[in-house]
Amino acid sequence: MLDHSTFESFCHQYSSEQACAEALFHARWPDGFRCPTCRHPHYYLTRTRRLPLYECRSCRVQTSVIAGTIMEGSSTL
Ligand SMILES: [Zn+2]
Repeated sequence: MLDHSTFESFCHQYSSEQACAEALFHARWPDGFRCPTCRHPHYYLTRTRRLPLYECRSCRVQTSVIAGTIMEGSSTL
């Protein structure tokens, strides 16, 4: 599981956090986005100060590429 410090060190391999987030997206959803709750394939992208959030267009659950980790529910995301 990725935590925040793991994410930071992981990102050092990439030219930007944006590139890192995209790499994590493809690692988490190799066949494209799937809502972790309802498996819906479409989302709204929300930019945050750090990682983008993916909001399910069906059930409105928000997730990120590292949701389910120590960062989940953090207001500092
Ligand atoms: Zn959903």
